[in-house]
Amino acid sequence: MAPTMMKAAVCKEVGQPLVIEEVPVPKPEGRHLLVRVQVASLCHSDVSIVTGAVLGGPPVPLIIGHEAISVVEELGPDAAKYGIKVGDRVGTPLWQDWCFECYECKEIAPQFCPKITMKGVNAPGYFCEYTTVDAATAVVIPENTPASPVQLSPIFCAGVTVWDALSRACLKPGETLAVVGVGGLGEIATKYAQALGVKVVGIDVRDEQLIGVKEGGSADEILNSRDLKLTEVKERVRELNKGRGVDAAVVTSGSKPAYLTALNILRAEGRLMAVGIPGEYVPINMGLVATQAIKIIGAKVPGQIGTAACLDFCHRKGIYPKVHPRKFQLEDINEMMDLMKAGKVDDGRMAVQFF
Ligand SMILES: [Zn+2]
Ligand SMILES: [Zn+2]
Repeated sequence: MAPTMMKAAVCKEVGQPLVIEEVPVPKPEGRHLLVRVQVASLCHSDVSIVTGAVLGGPPVPLIIGHEAISVVEELGPDAAKYGIKVGDRVGTPLWQDWCFECYECKEIAPQFCPKITMKGVNAPGYFCEYTTVDAATAVVIPENTPASPVQLSPIFCAGVTVWDALSRACLKPGETLAVVGVGGLGEIATKYAQALGVKVVGIDVRDEQLIGVKEGGSADEILNSRDLKLTEVKERVRELNKGRGVDAAVVTSGSKPAYLTALNILRAEGRLMAVGIPGEYVPINMGLVATQAIKIIGAKVPGQIGTAACLDFCHRKGIYPKVHPRKFQLEDINEMMDLMKAGKVDDGRMAVQFF
């Protein structure tokens, strides 16, 4: 039986440090499951949410966090039909409460449902000992998985987001993909792309991150674009790619220069995959888009089906995100956020471990 009270990291005021406090353990309603959190990892979006850069900040007070691995403790009254049992280990994308009734749910995909809520954004998140998750979103982790919960947790946001982008990019073996921004998400993108048989060019403005993917073996070529003009970046990329532009570029950074770089290094009919959410307006040269027949394609955290497919791909290929060696506690959450804000992510995804 779950206790009645638990520890949680709560955003009480936008832009202020999180507060660790005792709050009631929630009750699973409808199709929700009560879960005990094993590991919750920190995503760059958590920082953007708490600082108010996303949606002007969360509805406070709110427990943040949207990447985790947890164990099912109790089923809500309508959850049994989803086939998940007490004791199952699950992960979820951040979405929950889609309606299954609307046009988006029926005709496109439930992650576009207008009724959806998001864990750690506008619904209670994972930086706490217990939470509820939607059984319609949850993906059961196979018992024989060789990866640790810390390695699995970042798949449920960082992993599935780049997975969606690479799926929509329709990459063919032998093509060249530029990954613009090779920290967190980008590092995973280089690994997935390489497993798909694609040549990977990592582009970033930080040498440590570039060296990480080069030495890790997931980028075939690397380029630091920090001190280069756009025309110089274009020239260098062509030198690295048999004299032509790349077939596709995935932008994991939310920075304007990253998007402008990606647009300028594509070949004719190339695909620009938008993953990083810019905090500012990015002016796109539509003349270039028109004359070069460029495709600009968005990517989004998938629903249960895409998440399960990504997890299966990770297991089959043995690809797991790079994770920080330190075992963080819930009380370390503000320190973790400060490290993330300072861009100190070279050691891998940081995760709170509750066991
Ligand atoms: Zn995230
Ligand atoms: Zn819907």
